[in-house]
Amino acid sequence: MASNWTNQVALVTGGARGLGRAIVKRLAAHGAAVAINYAANATVAEALAAEIRAGGGHAIAVGADVADAAAVNAMAARTEAVLGPISILVNNAGIAWAATLETWEPAGFARLRAVNVDGTIHAIRAVMAGMKARRYGRIVNISSIAAFGTTGFPGNHFYASTKAEVNILTRRFALELGGHGITVNAVAPGFTRTDMTRGGNTEAEWKEIEAGLARAAMTGRIGEPDDIANAVAFFGAPDSGWITAQILAVDGGRTDYIGHG
Ligand code: NAP
Repeated sequence: MASNWTNQVALVTGGARGLGRAIVKRLAAHGAAVAINYAANATVAEALAAEIRAGGGHAIAVGADVADAAAVNAMAARTEAVLGPISILVNNAGIAWAATLETWEPAGFARLRAVNVDGTIHAIRAVMAGMKARRYGRIVNISSIAAFGTTGFPGNHFYASTKAEVNILTRRFALELGGHGITVNAVAPGFTRTDMTRGGNTEAEWKEIEAGLARAAMTGRIGEPDDIANAVAFFGAPDSGWITAQILAVDGGRTDYIGHG
């Protein structure tokens, strides 16, 4: 039986660009009303919401720095006032931070944690009372295969550690919330084409990076944002109520990670 997405309301953090954008579009295509969170890029988020509304869907853009708990609470309240009770939360907002033991400094690491870890906690705390009261919720956290600890990027340690924390919290929060009808899962993407991975690389550098990572995947290519959105929609679906505490690597089958997950 196909899931019935009627009356589903999703809040997607960092929903205007990259993976979040594909997730927003996928959930809207299923029929969910979607709140598109942004931090810096209001215009892009507003334009995406307008595009979804023009196609007959329901969407709004909602600004908040996920590191700011009060702003996240206000964003959740606004979403519920306009779209209705939030039934799906996707914690996608995240930042990268390249640093080694030599270059580590506390402010950079604090900001990384504040967005990638605290942001996830803030958003879950903002929606969980309503989900508990309705005895229904689907929470999907965006982790990373970096969380498994075996990536080869030298500057990735601290980013990887924040995503490992997301994995642990996913399982622990699933335990705390499972009895309330709320599932908590994580999607751990492999290398996927977005602004984050594209970084400041030139076209030639990017082609080389892409080719190298494509060779490392059983499927012979890097990820596209839709590949990740597909897995998020699976965990977010009404029919997925007996799937919780799972970390799903979506990475095209990385041959340098056989045995992960
Ligand atoms: P991206 O292209 O850099 O986009 C990041 C998104 O997060 C943007 O929408 C941005 O919003 C939002 N964001 C950043 N800081 C925020 C904050 N403090 N509050 C609210 N929103 C904030 O990155 P991406 O590649 O799509 O990554 C999305 C998620 O997937 C991240 O958690 C990332 O760690 C994870 N991931 C990505 C890959 C990959 O290969 N791309 C692999 C593994 C995991 P604004 O535009 O408004 O700033």
